[in-house]
Amino acid sequence: MELARLLRKGDISAREITESVFGRIGEREETINAFITTTREIAFKQAKEADARFRQGGDIPLLTGIPVAVKDLLCTKGIKTTCGSKILENFVPTYNATAVKNVLDAGAVLVGKTNMDEFGMGSSTENSIMGPTKNPLDPKRVAGGSSGGSAAAVSSAESILALGTDTGGSIRQPSAFCGVTGIKPTYGRVSRYGLISYASSLDQIGAIGKTVEDCAMMLDVICGHDPLDTTSANVAKPDFKAAIKEDLEGIRIGIPEEFFSEGLDSRIKEKVLTAIGLMEKNGARVVPINLPHSPYAVSTYYLIATAEASSNLARYDGVKYGFRNGVDMADCMEMYEKTRTEGFGMEVKRRIMLGTYVLSAGYYDAYYLKAQKARTLIKEDFDEAFKTVDCIMTPVSPCLPFTLGEKMTDPLQMYLVDIYTVSLNLAGLPGMSLPCGTVDDLPVGLQIVGNHFDEEMVLRVGAAYERIAFSNRNHNHGI
Ligand code: GLN
Repeated sequence: MELARLLRKGDISAREITESVFGRIGEREETINAFITTTREIAFKQAKEADARFRQGGDIPLLTGIPVAVKDLLCTKGIKTTCGSKILENFVPTYNATAVKNVLDAGAVLVGKTNMDEFGMGSSTENSIMGPTKNPLDPKRVAGGSSGGSAAAVSSAESILALGTDTGGSIRQPSAFCGVTGIKPTYGRVSRYGLISYASSLDQIGAIGKTVEDCAMMLDVICGHDPLDTTSANVAKPDFKAAIKEDLEGIRIGIPEEFFSEGLDSRIKEKVLTAIGLMEKNGARVVPINLPHSPYAVSTYYLIATAEASSNLARYDGVKYGFRNGVDMADCMEMYEKTRTEGFGMEVKRRIMLGTYVLSAGYYDAYYLKAQKARTLIKEDFDEAFKTVDCIMTPVSPCLPFTLGEKMTDPLQMYLVDIYTVSLNLAGLPGMSLPCGTVDDLPVGLQIVGNHFDEEMVLRVGAAYERIAFSNRNHNHGI
């Protein structure tokens, strides 16, 4: 990353970078609404510490002095963590999520906590008690979701990097909508300790930046085994930054037919296929594949995610955390009911009800168990595909960033936006969204999917594409 290099040469200070980021927040935030909380004082203090380290010299972690925004679903010690919900409006955690701790230990500057769909439930960041985040590239449009605040903050230069979470696409889809790069690592690669759970078997923390290198830098810091999370994988952490230097020679790219058919905006299809064609010209080999159970991914996801959510969100009862409605403790049931009725937004309540229903006796076998079986089949499709390919490429979203309010009255339309992203969470696979062109000045995202724990391949292919696409653009348009 250019900024890390400039900091080391002394050409720029962490204070100056922090000033620029807060300058942008001053100019843009009223329109964009990327943040729920900004942490200006903390940021300048951290920047000062970073500059002191640079003056001392020696071996300094790459993230030192770099501004990072954190999704408001990751616990930050002493800083409000709301999940975009009234029920956690005044919740101040007593500890940092492991990913946050790692980023801060590496010397990063915390810009603030970013806006999101309540508890991560949504695809547009319109389900936030703080109001929607707008797309910096066209404020009449949504930023995507649920990590819309994180993607918008990076896109508008209100931050340099951001942490997001991805349960069914929430890093990749907003990255695509805001024209930035975002990666969801393999399930288990990053500790979920301190991530406020939505659907625990699907949730994963990841990185958003302008480039693949930015994401690799962040992954180097946040990945790794953590005894505080029992699902954290005890596997060796590769040097992600090293992976991005290699080219595309001999790489086999799988193109799943099911991801390019009905429902996909033809202009998006063309951009994605053009990007893949460019990679083919530069040494990669395209292999048509099938992921036959993909048509079941959205329904499978919405059964499993809501089932897990209904259980995870049972803890918000007005007793243990945040908001409480009703002081008459003589009637606890009434207090629970009032608290949850008023504390949760519409979409969260819809999902709790759906999840409770699919787990209830009599419906469990027909819905939840069936969904678990479908999940296995979806994963097996990918296992089979990865026997013959090194990575898989698809669009991120079937549509361009839509206008605010456009899909709010029809939840099913909103759920369908996740059609190309949810399979990866169901299968636990890593995936990245990176910009591959524009349609009517709106960005299009290319999704690169890797095998389990093969983020290196995803990053390598993504970085190689960036190099080719940029040199191509320079060549063609002289930019
Ligand atoms: N849009 C999906 C949902 O609403 C995914 C959200 C996410 O990844 N957190 O569940």
